[in-house]
Amino acid sequence: MPEPAEAVWGHCVAVLRDGTVAADAAEAAVRRGGRSRSLALAHARYQALLRTPTAPPGPDFDGLDPIGLALALSATRPAEERAVLDLEGRVDRGRLARALGVAPARAAALATEAAATWERELDPALLAWLGPGDCHELAELLPSAERLEDLLDAAPAVAAHVAGCEACSDRRRAMVTVKALVAQAPLPPLPARVRAAAGAARFRLPASAPPPLDAGPGQRRGLAVLAVVVGVVLAAGTTTGLVIWRNHRRVSAVAAVATAPIPASTVVVSTTVVPLELAANAQGCAVQAQVVDDIDATVVLHWRGGSGPEQAVPLIGPAYKTILAPTTVPVTWWVTATDQRGAQARTPDAVVTPGAC
Ligand SMILES: [Zn+2]
Repeated sequence: MPEPAEAVWGHCVAVLRDGTVAADAAEAAVRRGGRSRSLALAHARYQALLRTPTAPPGPDFDGLDPIGLALALSATRPAEERAVLDLEGRVDRGRLARALGVAPARAAALATEAAATWERELDPALLAWLGPGDCHELAELLPSAERLEDLLDAAPAVAAHVAGCEACSDRRRAMVTVKALVAQAPLPPLPARVRAAAGAARFRLPASAPPPLDAGPGQRRGLAVLAVVVGVVLAAGTTTGLVIWRNHRRVSAVAAVATAPIPASTVVVSTTVVPLELAANAQGCAVQAQVVDDIDATVVLHWRGGSGPEQAVPLIGPAYKTILAPTTVPVTWWVTATDQRGAQARTPDAVVTPGAC
């Protein structure tokens, strides 16, 4: 069992509730997060919030248990609050900050704020649903119908009553909160496709971190987060060059380090908007490429200075692999990938020197 997959799945279910949509989000998240639990949860948070329905379906009150009612109440709050409170229950403060993409103090403030809002807005509605107990005054405040809207409408009056009623205050202190009930919601089994994606992700390069939570929905598209990832790669003696290139929808970043005999280190920063992440490296003449997000991409090796213009690169195991023809002149090469939607990615030029093969 890949370790982050269960947590990712649990988080996506907590935010979205819909199993199919949650599986879509979880699958995308584990592909991007790889074996990193923090990164996978960050992507789970982002992917789940991308898929949040604008109007969650109303619950059927027949046979609803307290957990079901708590889930229905939580669904009336912004998905960001569900995301923050669910993550807070899964990880420590430092990891919460990483998963949200914000500073630790900001993460703590978001969690405190969301918890206080649920306590103020939702817990009185839960109390209203549980009934008046022995308090006649409370009984008069409670709605006769049990629609979610009725409970929420009654919540302010219930809260005001509870604040001034000793018996109801005691009862409320003893009562489980909506937040705690939501955390107890049973988790459906991990879908096979999420498990499979998590397994495959172990062989892929992890994606860069997603945009932070504070980048609201309106900001997300135009956000130009420059997350420059400079990786220093110490290659083995036979390695002639290594180039890592990354391109994300909103994150541009890249790093490249060349080792002898390619003389200079190269750092390439790209801001092209391409929904594919592609990385490639060469050991001698053997070129290996990985497409982070799409196992159905068409990958082509291109070069100048050798023989032939280009060749398709077959998927062998977890990576695309091919071999450049031995050459007596420096060969400049790059790799392109095209996914089924037509999105493209291209690595920057790299050079194989004569005698490297
Ligand atoms: Zn009372």
